[in-house]
Amino acid sequence: TKFSELGLADPFLKAAAAEGYEVATPIQAKAIPVVLEGRDLIGCAQTGTGKTAAFTLPMLDRLMQNRPAHQPAAAPPQRHPQDTRRVKGDNPNPRPIRALVLSPTRELAAQIGDSLAKYGKFTPLRQTVVFGGVSQHSQTKALRHGVDALVATPGRLLDLMDQGFIDLSKIEVLVFDEADQMLDMGFLPALKRIVAAVPKRRQTLMFSATMPDEIRKLAQQWLTNPESLEM
Ligand code: AMP
Repeated sequence: TKFSELGLADPFLKAAAAEGYEVATPIQAKAIPVVLEGRDLIGCAQTGTGKTAAFTLPMLDRLMQNRPAHQPAAAPPQRHPQDTRRVKGDNPNPRPIRALVLSPTRELAAQIGDSLAKYGKFTPLRQTVVFGGVSQHSQTKALRHGVDALVATPGRLLDLMDQGFIDLSKIEVLVFDEADQMLDMGFLPALKRIVAAVPKRRQTLMFSATMPDEIRKLAQQWLTNPESLEM
């Protein structure tokens, strides 16, 4: 299947072409139209299958389609950018975070962030990545500036939520990448808290290299009438 036949908007076809992609991989050919329709999806897929583009391209496409009409280009500066203290009543994310991708490791999170940057480069959408093990300062600075899509490891995400740096109440698309690995790493309690903080009405995508019962059960709870893809 050619990329041009999947229903993606021009900026994303251009981005795919800029990467040299002409033919969609099997998971891309199946997943992209489903995600573009707004449906939930559970996919059994390994890395290296083109999985990242399979969810990031249509996710960004939907963010562009449903873009608020009068979104400001950037948040007005309210105080010195280095001053990341939280103030009561302050809006932590002047531009609401609309898409959240959860990843087990910082390496994978950074890769997904790179993909979002590549595939969104012909759009005004902004994204950032937050993960543990490094200072949170540059991460909170990016959040204060405003992002449309956030890639996060669960622990650092909760830390930043608890400090008031992140508001998930405007999330439209939630993605679990490598869900089995997140469970193996003990992130289930964190994932539960995150799911409780996002709107019930949302699109949810879940990818996992393996499909143990535990993953299937979570998918039943967290996804609505999902399309199921096995690669
Ligand atoms: P992923 O499984 O998403 O980590 O992708 C694995 C690699 O395949 C990445 O380096 C992508 O740049 C590349 N890739 C993804 N989709 C395509 C495609 N349709 N054609 C050629 N390469 C691709």
